[in-house]
Amino acid sequence: MQNYQAAKDALNDKVILVTGAGDGIGKEAALSYARHGASVILLGKTVNKLTAVYDEIIAAGGKEPAIIPLDLKGATAQHYRDMAATIQAEFGKLDGVLHNAGMLGVLSPFEHIDLPTWQDIMQVNVTSAMLMTQALLPVLKKAPRASVVFTSSGVGRKGRAFWGPYAVSKFATEGLMQVIADEYDNSSIRCNCINPGATRTKMRSRAYPGEDINLLKTPADLMWLYLYLMSDDSIAVNGQSLDAQVK
Ligand code: NDP
Repeated sequence: MQNYQAAKDALNDKVILVTGAGDGIGKEAALSYARHGASVILLGKTVNKLTAVYDEIIAAGGKEPAIIPLDLKGATAQHYRDMAATIQAEFGKLDGVLHNAGMLGVLSPFEHIDLPTWQDIMQVNVTSAMLMTQALLPVLKKAPRASVVFTSSGVGRKGRAFWGPYAVSKFATEGLMQVIADEYDNSSIRCNCINPGATRTKMRSRAYPGEDINLLKTPADLMWLYLYLMSDDSIAVNGQSLDAQVK
């Protein structure tokens, strides 16, 4: 599977929502999905980053994207219900969701973790993805085959000192994915996790400010898996946590 090459039209007629689509891995995924024929819905908190991605997609001849400016930290269940209603009205269905937006917070000793930071990270990395998926279910069910992809991390499978709430949020993400995947097994909705691995983005630079970024994979290097899980080639894959960087 790691040599997977998506056909140019692999995502034709699909409508795919990408969270955190303005930067890093999410930006690359949005551009990549659009290049493969999808109509993408760009969700993020910094509007000018989303409009830059929008412009890039149009300039490359892609289908016109939609933009949803939303800060996941303050978003409520009602925001997600309104969003689902808009997607239903505009597109009539949703074929894919990439839950990619995430916050690292501050790496610190366990004894220094404060409750507001803990709650913000859980809100942005876990609770928002739960509420959003719940609200989007009716519109996901309108698609013949829908794929929900969550973003995990190596520290979401084995805890690591000082990674506190971020690591715990990624364990929770794996758990959320498994619960939904099991519950919707044998339905039109499949659900999986991607662990991107060390990738050249702003988040990685914040976690490892001293490292040589030239040694890191770029978001583009990971796209084979992001495309695979959104394409119909992965319809039999459900409940898996897959690594985008296979050693
Ligand atoms: P970046 O920090 O480069 O990008 C994160 C994206 O999430 C940005 O577009 C950001 O928007 C958006 N975002 C953050 N907070 C919010 C919020 N409150 N509301 C809406 N959008 C928000 O990170 P990466 O691209 O590196 O990370 C993408 C995913 O991959 C994350 O889930 C991360 O945990 C995971 N990951 C990354 C690894 C890496 O090495 N890079 C390794 C393992 C996992 P804005 O730009 O507007 O702030």
